[in-house]
Amino acid sequence: MSDIQIVEAPAGVEGSGFFATSLDKAIGLARANSLWPLPFATSCCGIEFMATMGSHYDLARFGAERLSFSPRQADLLMVMGTISKKMAPVLRQVYLQMAEPRWVMAVGACASSGGIFDTYSVLQGIDEVIPVDVYVPGCPPRPEGIIDGFMNIQKLVKTESLRRRNEPKYQALLAKYGIQ
Ligand code: SF4
Repeated sequence: MSDIQIVEAPAGVEGSGFFATSLDKAIGLARANSLWPLPFATSCCGIEFMATMGSHYDLARFGAERLSFSPRQADLLMVMGTISKKMAPVLRQVYLQMAEPRWVMAVGACASSGGIFDTYSVLQGIDEVIPVDVYVPGCPPRPEGIIDGFMNIQKLVKTESLRRRNEPKYQALLAKYGIQ
């Protein structure tokens, strides 16, 4: 007698949309745990990022040990430090060179809002030139804060990985920044 048992497929397996939904979840899970961050570090917050990558805090646990210094091979832009107005076009260009889907994290007070540098030469938050998904508070944020922000990005990646580019809300956001 054979050990093989025929099991009835649960209800809904053959229903419309089943395959697409499951694929979306699988790709979201894989992407969220294999993000390739591009560290755009200009000042002190970048030092905290170095600690975050070190063995004690170990961002590699989240599948993100492979940093990318090429925008073409990165899906998470981590902006850490003071961004001067002269640097803003460079930051925007780096963002535009990243392929979709892409996410952006503003790490620390300077990247989020200009921080203590409320002056003519400093960008008062990178969201003046590119859309931001997650803001991490602090001057500087501790590595725990950076990891918390990273985990919030992972939550977005898990749910938006395949659909994001075609969402009207996301398209409207890009249009606001003059991005096609
Ligand atoms: Fe430096 Fe504070 Fe600005 Fe971070 S937020 S770059 S620690 S001044």
